[in-house]
Amino acid sequence: MSWALGSLIGIGVKLDFNKSYPVNDEPRLWQLQTEFMTEAEGLFGSRDQAKIIYQPSWDVDGPHVRYTPNKDGAFAELGFNAKTDWRMVVYQPSHETVHLLDQHGGQQTNLLEEGAAVRFSLDMMNKYGFDPAGLPEIDSYKAALKLFDSLGNEPYFIAKELRSKCDKFILIDATALKAKCPDASERIISKMLSKPVMR
Ligand SMILES: [Zn+2]
Repeated sequence: MSWALGSLIGIGVKLDFNKSYPVNDEPRLWQLQTEFMTEAEGLFGSRDQAKIIYQPSWDVDGPHVRYTPNKDGAFAELGFNAKTDWRMVVYQPSHETVHLLDQHGGQQTNLLEEGAAVRFSLDMMNKYGFDPAGLPEIDSYKAALKLFDSLGNEPYFIAKELRSKCDKFILIDATALKAKCPDASERIISKMLSKPVMR
């Protein structure tokens, strides 16, 4: 866990997750979304303030980010498996929160952003008292996590600086990455910037 995250832990209100099911508790879901965004902005820098973050919702194909038709904002759509499972309601929207920072309208993200989202979601699970064991389940997300963690001892800080320099995760380029991570090989850098379909 990085120093940056450690310094933010303890800000959130302790939630009693036994009191309700997520699908019946929109206020708590919104509270979580707000807390995740505060944490994510602390770690990765400010979100795109021109865009609106809407209440998380549900979708049979979730989790993913759903943009509004006029792209004035977006929200996390959680999978149906999260409807009655607070553990998944920490895991899924915290990941999507990292994608909600930039709101580029649904372009394919690079592996660096995916890795940042996975790392953040696992750290949020720890923060909220849930065991992240076994997550992520899907190989491409495991690979993305490994790449993010390989940024060094302070991957959050490096990601924040890269995002600040290039404006969005999706605009981070090889030159900026090489300048921040001089030890990273060209192979690793091009992997971080690749945009595979995640499965
Ligand atoms: Zn993702």
